[in-house]
Amino acid sequence: MSELVPRSRIMVVDDQAVHLKALCDILGQHDLDAAGFTTGEAALAHLRGQAYDLLLTDMNMPGMDGLALIEAARALDPGIACIIMTGAGTVDTAVKAMKIGAFDYIIKPFKAATLLPVLARALESRQLRQQNVKLEAALRDRIDELGRVNLFLEAARKEAERTNHEKSAFLSNMSHELRTPLNSILGFAQILASDRFPKGEGERQRFSQNIVSSGKHLLSLVNEMLDLSKIEAGKVSLVLEAVMLDEVLREVHALVAPLAEKRRIALLLPADCRFELSVDRMRLKQILVNLFSNAIKYNRPQGSVSVDCHVGQRGYASIAISDSGIGLTAEQLQTIFVPFGRAGLDESDEEGTGLGLTITKRLVEAMRGSIGVDSKPGEGSTFRIELPLTNTAATAAGARSTMHHAT
Ligand code: ADP
Repeated sequence: MSELVPRSRIMVVDDQAVHLKALCDILGQHDLDAAGFTTGEAALAHLRGQAYDLLLTDMNMPGMDGLALIEAARALDPGIACIIMTGAGTVDTAVKAMKIGAFDYIIKPFKAATLLPVLARALESRQLRQQNVKLEAALRDRIDELGRVNLFLEAARKEAERTNHEKSAFLSNMSHELRTPLNSILGFAQILASDRFPKGEGERQRFSQNIVSSGKHLLSLVNEMLDLSKIEAGKVSLVLEAVMLDEVLREVHALVAPLAEKRRIALLLPADCRFELSVDRMRLKQILVNLFSNAIKYNRPQGSVSVDCHVGQRGYASIAISDSGIGLTAEQLQTIFVPFGRAGLDESDEEGTGLGLTITKRLVEAMRGSIGVDSKPGEGSTFRIELPLTNTAATAAGARSTMHHAT
């Protein structure tokens, strides 16, 4: 049997004040919180400002009758439990009341013992419905959350698949790149070691030279692979310090000048790169040497390499290295930052591992910078890196630009 839910709020509506009071008293004695109204209109007005668990209304009243009240009350609060009190012989109106959403009806006159179980069932059903609504909302939340988790997992799976694919491609490219110089070393060494080979001095020198250069190439491949794997494993600790860009540019210039002279490439450095960057000095040098030597290597005879630097946005300096070289197509640009991604021009003649730009990009990004490239086949390329200025330099640059705006 259902129990009355203590302190439930019950609205009682009956145009006969004596009945109304008797009902409210009975409900009060059973620990229910009853409020009585003698007209449907007054009850409805009250219902607009107050929530009730149950509406117990007489059917026949002057003005708004019980049916109209139930309809209006449920429009305000679809969860309210409604019970209609109706005289014998008007059961069909009670059925109508049930159709518009009343929970039950009770035939007048009735005793408290008849009314109370009806009220208890209605209140219990309302409580169950409320719990159901909460459970449904919680379920919807869980489903939404599950959906979000699924999306996240799916993205993580795709990312893992992509990384896995990249690693496999890297491994297969790596084996190929290592095998080429190794085969060449073995081949020439076997020829040199063979008894049947008439080793003229010139031949021997040429073959030995091939072994040395393949060995050197192999060494730089291994070194760069180790460097890259350290960077990717996050094992490279960068020492960020205040570094004057012009000083590093001069040092890099000294390092690459012999290569430029050999190729008759003019190196044009600007005089005004006095920016203070917050970077790892050694790694900045490595980045610039790589970009400069590429700009020299993939140039045309008597071409030029020029540098432009300026303070960019948000406390960053922008350094652009432009060459008058062979340039790159949009398709080639897709592969150059990928390990062993050599654009396949005539760089087989060029010393290189195909790892330089991958390492460069990783290093620039590790120093909170970015790298981009503009290129036109046959006209040349511009590699642009953005690196953070020190706080002092950024503040000074900000003040300068404000002054420019003001003037
Ligand atoms: P590599 O050791 O082959 O130079 P990088 O990773 O430094 O390796 O460069 C990848 C490829 O990008 C090069 O093989 C070359 O095809 C292309 N590349 C790089 N820099 C330039 C440039 N300045 N002009 C044209 N092509 C370039």
